[in-house]
Amino acid sequence: MKVYFKELLLNTRLKRELVDITAEVEKAVSESGVKNGLCLVFAPHATAAIIANEHERGLKNDILRKLEEEYPSDGGWEHNRIDDNAAAHLASAFVAASRIFPVMNGNLVRGTWQNIFLVELDGPRSRRRVLIEVMGE
Ligand code: ZN
Repeated sequence: MKVYFKELLLNTRLKRELVDITAEVEKAVSESGVKNGLCLVFAPHATAAIIANEHERGLKNDILRKLEEEYPSDGGWEHNRIDDNAAAHLASAFVAASRIFPVMNGNLVRGTWQNIFLVELDGPRSRRRVLIEVMGE
């Protein structure tokens, strides 16, 4: 079995934003040489998340709005006494910091309207890491 790792380093510009990393993930799958297996996309951060959905400007805003509705910044959260970013931790915890995709015939399998995004929840940050692990045969 082959196991291939690649790390992306991203700078984010806003407090909350979606950063499309689809091309980078597909490039990693190609570089891995894996024909059939799995691709893990993992953000090693407590205030970021990974999702797969449509890259459309309105929907991107809707997703950010929904996150603010579910995890409002001014929610009276206890963790805000420490560094005022509890909403980012909550969204990261419940949206999840990783996603797994099938790799078939050398290609990442995703729907036509499933681009892969890093969700910045407490930006702007420099050097946000995304670890891509491709494994299989
Ligand atoms: Zn915190």
